[in-house]
Amino acid sequence: MSALDVGLPMSFPLGDLPSSVTVWEVGARDGLQNESAVVPVEVKAEFISRLAAAGLPIVEATSFVRPEWVPQLADSAELIASLDRVDGVRYPVLVPNERGLDRALECGVRDIAVFASATEAFAQANLNRSYDEQWGMFDAVVARARGESIPVRGYLSMCFGDPWEGAVSPERVADAVATLRDMGCTEFSLGDTIGVATPGHVRAVLDALVARDIDLSGVAVHFHDTYGQALANTLAALQGGITIVDSSAGGLGGCPYAKSATGNLATEDLVFMLDGLGVHTGIDLSALAATSVWMAERLGRPSPSRVVRAMQQSVEQGEGS
Ligand code: MG
Repeated sequence: MSALDVGLPMSFPLGDLPSSVTVWEVGARDGLQNESAVVPVEVKAEFISRLAAAGLPIVEATSFVRPEWVPQLADSAELIASLDRVDGVRYPVLVPNERGLDRALECGVRDIAVFASATEAFAQANLNRSYDEQWGMFDAVVARARGESIPVRGYLSMCFGDPWEGAVSPERVADAVATLRDMGCTEFSLGDTIGVATPGHVRAVLDALVARDIDLSGVAVHFHDTYGQALANTLAALQGGITIVDSSAGGLGGCPYAKSATGNLATEDLVFMLDGLGVHTGIDLSALAATSVWMAERLGRPSPSRVVRAMQQSVEQGEGS
């Protein structure tokens, strides 16, 4: 038992929930991409190793975007080469275009993700394409990857609201997911990029997906905790048939669009709730929190995760008494 084992939740099941949830860990990519500090490649490799050792089944590793676009992830090839892989753990990478796919394949990557927008404004801002033009960017990437039996996740940003356009209709989100599915994507992630979703909205989006015959078993939710709604939204999603949840260890990665310190849902906050509900994840919460404390020390600032801070405080009070 480690010092961080204090304060773990008791398990009380609730109806209408899956027996297990797959946590898709995005801290090393989505988290570090949105941190101002550039982390040395050996620290990233150790972070990813620690996450896999803590039981994370999927550890998204990096992004093969042009280094000048995202300097925090400019070391993607070196990082992939230095990964100490655990059998059975997936290490997907983000690939923006065919050049990125070429670079990823050269490094031996066999698990990729593309990044699309549910809105016109964010497609223009993030991809420099119109909403309609963006699909042409991904078509060839997805076709080539699927031709090599590589799974492809389609991320979709701004599914619950857009800082420029405001409301985004659930039907529009369903249209975009259906486009990614028809292109050949095998998995999908619904991003609440600015963190404005609420639980009923989540269910409305899932209902719209089901109405378009989208199989929810391949759909993940990617909530941001900017407005404190991420866990409530996650519970609503699980009750609505979702079994894959994206989160970031220690809550790494602020929200660049809301200029908030709180962005990605923290994996610890998610696992604490799932442990309390008796939903299996295979993740060791204490080992995970210790990893986030270690990473926060390297970033030189405390983790924004409530669970990490509470577990750390319990340990410090225990040491002081
Ligand atoms: Mg995110």
